[in-house]
Amino acid sequence: MDIMDKLSLLGESARYDVSCSSSGSQRAGRGGLGNTSAGGICHTWTADGRCVSLLKVLQTNECIYDCAYCANRRSNDIARTRFLPAELAELTIAFYRRNYIEGLFLSSGVWRSPDDTVEQMLETLRLLRHQHRFNGYVHVKAIPGCSDLLLEQLGLLADRVSVNLEQCTKSSLETLAPQKRFEHIFKPMRYLSGRLAENRDELARYRHAPSFSPAGQSTQLIIGASPEPDHLILRAAEKLYQDYQLKRVYYSAYMPVNQDQRLPAISVQPPLLREHRLYQADWLLRFYRFTSRELLDSHQMNLDLEIDPKASWALRHLDQFPVEINKAGFDMLLRVPGIGVRSVQKIIAARRYHRLSLDDLKTMRIPMKRTAWFITCNGKYGGSYFPSPEALRMLLADKAGQQQQMPTQMSLDALHL
Ligand code: SF4
Repeated sequence: MDIMDKLSLLGESARYDVSCSSSGSQRAGRGGLGNTSAGGICHTWTADGRCVSLLKVLQTNECIYDCAYCANRRSNDIARTRFLPAELAELTIAFYRRNYIEGLFLSSGVWRSPDDTVEQMLETLRLLRHQHRFNGYVHVKAIPGCSDLLLEQLGLLADRVSVNLEQCTKSSLETLAPQKRFEHIFKPMRYLSGRLAENRDELARYRHAPSFSPAGQSTQLIIGASPEPDHLILRAAEKLYQDYQLKRVYYSAYMPVNQDQRLPAISVQPPLLREHRLYQADWLLRFYRFTSRELLDSHQMNLDLEIDPKASWALRHLDQFPVEINKAGFDMLLRVPGIGVRSVQKIIAARRYHRLSLDDLKTMRIPMKRTAWFITCNGKYGGSYFPSPEALRMLLADKAGQQQQMPTQMSLDALHL
């Protein structure tokens, strides 16, 4: 195979690895510009908030493992190839020079062993950083089971190192990815989180200390390939943020690429709306001080697909509303549908000087269509009437929820476990 053949094969094979939250989109190019489904280039955000385009590719699609959900598993009869480190480094530099990309997202199948695979990826990064003096963004996926020494070297060369968890329970991981072990995934995560903490300390003491994975670590969970409800997925994500200080958990809607009895029969479309709701709930965990138990529990195990998770929480806690805008504390204001973190800051800053009216909120560009039903301003109710809970639910349902019904129950029922 020549380099371009390898690129098209290994770029296509990398499509299912997530580095951004738009992975599940299916809008293929039809005569216009752009194509969300083709492999090749993806976007991500660096530690300082810039959006960068990355060449997204596998080092190899050869794999000794046999994960049920993966197109590259060893039992699939597909064309296989592998980039030599020098080939991939030169290709990245050539694309960078043409201004096609600003960085590299490198993942891989497991070639011979986790250590052998990571050695190849490491050599690619060494050539990029030392021979080509490339300073662009690099996100590398470490292979679970590789040694700490290799992880250390990856962390010193890459901007972000991550390890994919894929499934949130041990039993699902063992069923769908029989060669993977929870402990092989959590061990490198623990190492990375320890080294990241150590590195923060080193950098505070010594200005010239080398940076270790400055954009932190992330992971990916596949949604819909196993029967876990959303509350278990969110609980797992919350624990990952708390215990391993992950920057992001990416949720990837399961794409049916294999016929396998262990997988759900998805005949309609991947659970993209469920993926979207999980990202919204994840946002609430990270920035809105919600806990996973508040969003979902054993009574309500899955996120509401018709309305966003914050509105869903508000509808289940109508006894806590309406909230008086001029008196409520920071945390309670954050829980009002339609009010975001910046709006809360604006409200708190403004009410130091005068009592706020409904018109003041409109001036602050707070979306009153959503917010009005949950607030009072100087004792005046924001809505034009008091809707029943059912009517309120209709008012809050968003277009995404009305247009796409995710076949959750169908998928779960169709599991042959
Ligand atoms: S380890 Fe599993 S998920 Fe990764 S490439 Fe191999 S078969 Fe696919």
